[in-house]
Amino acid sequence: MKTAIGIDLGGTYIKYGLVDQQGKILKKGMIPTKAESNSRDIVIEQISTAIKDVWNDTIDGIGIGTPGVVDNNGVVYEAPNLPDWHNFNLKEIFEKKFNKPVVVENDANSIAYGEFLFGAGKGTRTIVCLTLGTGLGGGVVINGKLLRGAIYSAAEIGHMPIDYKGRKCGCGSIGCIEAYVGRDYIVKSVIRKIKRGKKTILTEMAENDLSKITPKMISEAYQKGDKLAEETWIEMATALGAFLAGIVNLLNPDRIILAGGIAQAGEILFETVRKTIHERAMKVLSKNVEIVPAELGIDAGIISGAALIFQS
Ligand SMILES: [Zn+2]
Repeated sequence: MKTAIGIDLGGTYIKYGLVDQQGKILKKGMIPTKAESNSRDIVIEQISTAIKDVWNDTIDGIGIGTPGVVDNNGVVYEAPNLPDWHNFNLKEIFEKKFNKPVVVENDANSIAYGEFLFGAGKGTRTIVCLTLGTGLGGGVVINGKLLRGAIYSAAEIGHMPIDYKGRKCGCGSIGCIEAYVGRDYIVKSVIRKIKRGKKTILTEMAENDLSKITPKMISEAYQKGDKLAEETWIEMATALGAFLAGIVNLLNPDRIILAGGIAQAGEILFETVRKTIHERAMKVLSKNVEIVPAELGIDAGIISGAALIFQS
């Protein structure tokens, strides 16, 4: 039986596990990343500790999902939440240390491949996987292969503009889809409407401190029939659906998979996204595509890390 170690490197925790060829976790753990140490070496030491904890000599390799841009050689660039995580070969470090094949991939790309191989994309050829959270990450698998682009990782989906005169995005550009569906932007738009006088139970739920409002709270308010919460999700999902109509026309995917905390807003999100895609994408393409929730759950990063090894 083939096995691999999957590493999910986050800004706060490293989640890791030993995973078999069916995507089943045999053993797993979690340790702090120690990013606050401001030392790249300490973070690398933490990853080594994680690997050793689930190590056995028969593994087929180690797959690491990391924030940042990763090139075809395993060099990482531009990960703002990790110390000095820029311009160095992460793959080489661990291949030398453990003498096994190592694959390093951008975390959102890694999740897309994991969902393709073991989760909601199983049995398809072409998928787009979006992770809805603070930002909007994503990955694309075309004909069974991760779309990687010319040199660096392609699929910086969150920073595709949907409105060239639109909202300012954190990346410095204007009108990126992230500025319409990212967590902070959703909350900000709700706060703006409350300040303009919209009545909502969110004010009470947040104990009159609007800074306490979260997407989860907006979902709860929606369940209780709150109009502003409903309007917020419909607006967000319509923006996402319009954006995805473009993606459907561009890539003709079998499935679009929605992952991440905000995807848990539930049926109103999925229904509105589906409806908008069907209204706006080319008919024959939109008829074919399915919009589904991710399946790998909280251990997605671990399973996906291992999937990177099974792809090769
Ligand atoms: Zn942007």
